[in-house]
Amino acid sequence: MRLISLELHGFKSFADAQKLSFPGGMTAVVGPNGCGKSNISDSLAWVLGEQRASMLRGSEMADVIFAGTAQRRATGMAEVKLVLEMPDPALPGATREVVISRRLYRDTGSEYRINGREARLKDVQDLLLDTGMGTRAYSFIQQGQIDLILSSKPKDRRLLLEEAAGITRYKLRRADAEKRLEE
Ligand code: ATP
Ligand code: MG
Repeated sequence: MRLISLELHGFKSFADAQKLSFPGGMTAVVGPNGCGKSNISDSLAWVLGEQRASMLRGSEMADVIFAGTAQRRATGMAEVKLVLEMPDPALPGATREVVISRRLYRDTGSEYRINGREARLKDVQDLLLDTGMGTRAYSFIQQGQIDLILSSKPKDRRLLLEEAAGITRYKLRRADAEKRLEE
């Protein structure tokens, strides 16, 4: 699993379309205070389906849309497109490129796309299950979260390990099947 590129358009301080590429290895984002470093990590969480405005440092979802500056009018839409390299389920050992995008207009809900096709939030979540990349997984570690993990209950910590081990998908499928049997 690898990030290939991230495109932002109208997302928070990124009014103009911007494309960031991740050439491999480790990438560090550096710059003066307030230049938009955290906005980049917010955009990653957002395109992967984050639903909590507070996790994106806002009070409502529309806060991710470029709000304008003294020189520039606000935009009506935010869009983030992420290109990932993921294991290919059809070909063990092989990888494939997947494009996930999310768009939000003021006053409407979010639209997701996977490889250009309209998708639901659930489709994005399913795609990311067991990759460690989901918004509730361990790929985003925020300030203070390490302490939280260390002090969490064993049961909660186990969920994190299950995601890392790649068995979350199977647990969810089993729960789904059991529910259907009961019905
Ligand atoms: P630090 O080094 O202090 O952590 P940073 O580089 O992480 O700074 P960010 O928090 O990513 O900075 O960016 C903050 C900037 O983004 C602020 O100038 C803020 O006004 C701007 N910003 C946030 N949301 C929006 C928005 N919806 N529209 C326009 N600008 C926004
Ligand atoms: Mg920051």
